Amino acid sequence: MEENKLKGKVALVTGASSGIGQGIAIAMGHAGAKVVVNFHSDEDGARDTQKLIEDAGGEAITARADVSKAEDAQKLIDTAVEHFGRLDILVNNAGIQKDQEFLKMTLEEWQKVIDTNLTGHFLCAQAAAREFVKREVKPEEKTSAGNIIFISSVHDIIPWAGRVNYTAAKGGLQMMMKSLAQELAKYKVRVNAISPGAIKTDINRKEWETEEGRKKMLSQIPYGRIGEPEDIAKVAVWLATDEADYITGSTLYVDGGMTLYPS
Ligand code: NAD
Repeated sequence: MEENKLKGKVALVTGASSGIGQGIAIAMGHAGAKVVVNFHSDEDGARDTQKLIEDAGGEAITARADVSKAEDAQKLIDTAVEHFGRLDILVNNAGIQKDQEFLKMTLEEWQKVIDTNLTGHFLCAQAAAREFVKREVKPEEKTSAGNIIFISSVHDIIPWAGRVNYTAAKGGLQMMMKSLAQELAKYKVRVNAISPGAIKTDINRKEWETEEGRKKMLSQIPYGRIGEPEDIAKVAVWLATDEADYITGSTLYVDGGMTLYPS
């Protein structure tokens, strides 16, 4: 990772105690950003993330919050500003899966996923955007007042039987991202999404850890390998830099071709 690409920036990554969020937090830290490592329950994982950033000479703090709670989301943004004096980048990454056949799905199984994967992203985005719009950046300047990145999924466009709660949340994120990009552009706030394909993390460990599961996953990936958190992290770092200043309202599918139709 190129050092100093994000020097002077402060990044908050939600759900950064494991998987993709951990990879993004570490990559942003290594790129020079000061990082707020959010966790919900896995404090040890968050401390590991912090240590990996600090060991490479970076700065990070950990902050507990349940992103689906309005007070927690606000506190998270306040923590970043109080501790580091500013916030430049929000990576809305926290997410869960609660798989269930539609005919058997309880309201609780529906609601929990919507609360975390959709409402949680709304709450953090709103609190961060209220901070970003305080900055004045002229339209002709080739930099932004703030950056919001949603970690969505290829399942924001590919249906997935047995996961209607997850796909509804991810599909909803797509339109939230585009509407926010439109609404916040006048404040020079950029809003984009990264939609990962199959990435090796805890969320899908049961699948990629077995021979049969791996085979099934690979059959859906034209590029022939299962992704790793670093594949997403590199793109997130770049998207947060001014190199990507003219990109807003876009979704980058980082999926080894999973969204291509099979030949
Ligand atoms: P993961 O389970 O390792 O990470 C999810 C993180 O979110 C965990 O650290 C968890 O503690 C945190 N979290 C859950 N609920 C939370 C809450 N209420 N408040 C704060 N944090 C909370 O899995 P992952 O694969 O790294 O998932 C990260 C994101 O990537 C998710 O949004 C997921 O939907 C998305 N994604 C993953 C894949 C994949 O193949 N792994 C593919 C597409 C999209």
